[in-house]
This record gives sequence, structure tokens and C-alpha cells, in this order.
Amino acid sequence: MEVGGQHTPADGSSGPVYYAQEQIRKADERFWEEEVKRNVLVAPVDAIFNWARKSSLWPFTFGLACCAIEMMGSSMARYDFDRLGVFFRSSPRQADVMIVAGTVTRKMAPIVRRLYEQMAEPKYVVAMGACAISGGPFRDSYSVMMGVDRIIPVDVYVAGCPPRPEALIEGFLRLRAKIERDSVVKKRA
Ligand code: SF4
Repeated sequence: MEVGGQHTPADGSSGPVYYAQEQIRKADERFWEEEVKRNVLVAPVDAIFNWARKSSLWPFTFGLACCAIEMMGSSMARYDFDRLGVFFRSSPRQADVMIVAGTVTRKMAPIVRRLYEQMAEPKYVVAMGACAISGGPFRDSYSVMMGVDRIIPVDVYVAGCPPRPEALIEGFLRLRAKIERDSVVKKRA
């Protein structure tokens, strides 16, 4: 019904009050539509988890031999590992990446394994340099492991003796690509 140019509801509430209520309701709707557009992100759960994981890779601070010097160099100002979200942590319990940088001796192997086990899941391993990959120049030695993958699973191998910081950064980019392909949903199913 229309009275004096204004709509009046059928339940008999007065026209101006009804009109004001309608305006408030519409303003409310517009406000929430705007809020949803600005603040609600709809994305696959895998994309969100993988994005968070790949953007905050925290390696455990430890080095076994000369390759560790290059690893340290990668976090200095010239190479600036931090820009990829890579921050070195001093405890395995706060780290999710182990960079095996250097020669893994048979004496050190059980300790490397124990440190790996102390890291929380999901965790990743980067074998940095010829020694960590295959024993390198010490391959024939009685005291050196022929690759760290004999005691822990390796995700990325970075070749060189030693690999330069650029190579380690490339290794991390490969690790990020690998994490992007991971699926939280599939693992739970
Ligand atoms: S790969 Fe070469 S630089 Fe790296 S730890 Fe072995 S000997 Fe040293």
C-alpha cells in the first residue's frame, strides 16, 4: 500500500518507521557485502597450508664441514636468505628444514639422525655439497658415510664442492616448488 508517496507494510506499522528500518537494513547489507569482499578469502586448504609452509622455511643451524661456511654466507647481507622467509633456528624443535652442510662421518651419523628425529613434522632435508650427497672427496674413506640419504630422507640435493650460496638458494626454490605440490588433504584421507 502507498500512503503519501511512501510504502506502508501490510502489518500496519507506520510508513516513515518502516522506511527508516528498510534504509538501515540496506545499509547493513551493503556494509557486510563490502566487509566480506575485503576480508574473506576462499581458497583450497592445500593452497593455504602449502603457501604458509613454503613461505616460512626455518633451517636448523648446524654445519658439519666447509660447506657450512657457504651456508652461513647465504644468510648474510649479500645474499639475504631472509627475503625468502628463511630464518635459521638454533633448536631442532623450532626448525622444519635440516641443511646437511658438510661431511657426514660414521661417528656423527647417529647424532644427525637424532637431531632429525627431534624436528617436528612436516620436515625437509637439503643435502648440501658433494660430501652430504655421496661422501664427496672422502667417498673411499673408512670413516665417512656415502651420502646422508643412507640415514635420513633427502628432499633436495645441492651439488658442488662447495656449492655457492646462489646454489643453496636455488635448492630452496626447488624445495618450495616441491612443497607446493604437497597435499594435506590426501595425507589425512
Ligand atoms: S663438499 Fe667439498 S666443500 Fe663441502 S664439505 Fe665436502 S669437501 Fe668441504
